[in-house]
Amino acid sequence: MYEAYLAFGSNLGDRKKIILTAIDKLLQKGLILHKISSLYETIPYGYTEQPIFLNCVGSFLFGKTSYDLLEITQGIENELGRKRTIKWGPRNIDIDILLFAEQVINKDDLTIPHYDIQNRLFFLIPLTEINPDIEDPRNGLKYREYLKRLMDSDVDSIKLFTDKETLLFELKKLSEHYI
Ligand code: AMP
Repeated sequence: MYEAYLAFGSNLGDRKKIILTAIDKLLQKGLILHKISSLYETIPYGYTEQPIFLNCVGSFLFGKTSYDLLEITQGIENELGRKRTIKWGPRNIDIDILLFAEQVINKDDLTIPHYDIQNRLFFLIPLTEINPDIEDPRNGLKYREYLKRLMDSDVDSIKLFTDKETLLFELKKLSEHYI
């Protein structure tokens, strides 16, 4: 089994329910939820004229390859009716693979670690919440060090929305697949 860290984002519709449904669909596909972060509310990044996002990160155990995982996450994005016309624009669900075991992949269709982890508080804060010691497999730097560098800049862009205990409780209510 490999450990994969996935980031979820939604800024259209019933954002929390959509993220929980996406997690439930991953569990249906046989992934095992290891840890989940709290849910954060985040001011949009890139294209800023759009609704506020909810974001969280989960770590999952998965027995197949990173490409198999990408196929699953893209299938779920399509099933949940992701509509997106503008780069960095509104979307009802976005699932990014942040890390996959210790792998480093630099392909057009798959970059792992995700190319922008170090620049996004909404990746770094939930990622280091679930694993404070997690390292960048390219250079051994801890992601909490990347986070420290960003903290001065933009901390007002992100705040707690639902703590992780409540989020897990809500996931259990919604998902038959959560053990
Ligand atoms: P986005 O619209 O930002 O979700 O990007 C989707 C595209 O990014 C897809 O075509 C993926 O093939 C590609 N991609 C590259 N690296 C990753 C990654 N680590 N996680 C998810 N999608 C990725």
